[in-house]
Amino acid sequence: MKILISCDMEGITGVTSWDHVDPSHAEYQRFRHLMTCDVNSAIDGAFAGGVDEVLVTDGHWNGSNILIEELDKRAKLNSGIGTSQYSMMQGIDDSFDGVFFIGYHARACSENGILDHTWSTNLNNVWLNDNLIGEYGLNAALAGFFGVPVVMISGDQTACRQTRELLGDLEIAEVKYASGRHSALCLPPAESQLLIRNASIKAIGNLRKGLAPKPYVVQSPIQITIELISSDMADRAGRLPGSQRVGNKISFASQDMATAYKTFRAAAGLASLS
Ligand SMILES: [Zn+2]
Repeated sequence: MKILISCDMEGITGVTSWDHVDPSHAEYQRFRHLMTCDVNSAIDGAFAGGVDEVLVTDGHWNGSNILIEELDKRAKLNSGIGTSQYSMMQGIDDSFDGVFFIGYHARACSENGILDHTWSTNLNNVWLNDNLIGEYGLNAALAGFFGVPVVMISGDQTACRQTRELLGDLEIAEVKYASGRHSALCLPPAESQLLIRNASIKAIGNLRKGLAPKPYVVQSPIQITIELISSDMADRAGRLPGSQRVGNKISFASQDMATAYKTFRAAAGLASLS
């Protein structure tokens, strides 16, 4: 059995502030260690559940947050995602049995979601066909394209709830309870890491018993709509060939989810140019 662990940072144990996840801030060094610890708990749970292979993809910022010298030696690490094909999901293909989301956060415009956003703080809402989604939705849909289900998530209670609403009854590890964008009741690492390990073991057990959620397969043609936070960003994203603009919303259609994912990245990247 083979598992991909896709990691982000905003949903890691103890993270409540942008300072915690910003490589230019001194606080970041503490939280990249805690990110590595959360990921190691998931790896340990996966192996305790009986998997044979774990690939970790570091999906925050430029993808070089996890401290490889502290990483569980049974796993391998995809580091540096910016120039990779599938970003937060780099490495995904049909050889995997399941995906874990570690340190994930709520979608943009959420209530009680620590550092809620979708891909970039330049985006407000993002729709995949008619579903309002976050990064969890885009990444689950890409996994679904390859026939792979997302079976476990860690993050705050809002990230866990939103992911369950979209994907069904996957295992969750709620490592903190957000009461605003920058405030949360946080479990200490010793407790949150136990939750992550236990959820990982259960997720592998569910896969074995056929009880895990099914892959999230989005029907073609696939339409993604992104809502930019300002009209100059919409001007730039709207240069994407084949896109349509209504106000600050840019829409584009793709025949399959792998193409849709790449097109989404292109549109978000255009919006961020100056
Ligand atoms: Zn993110």
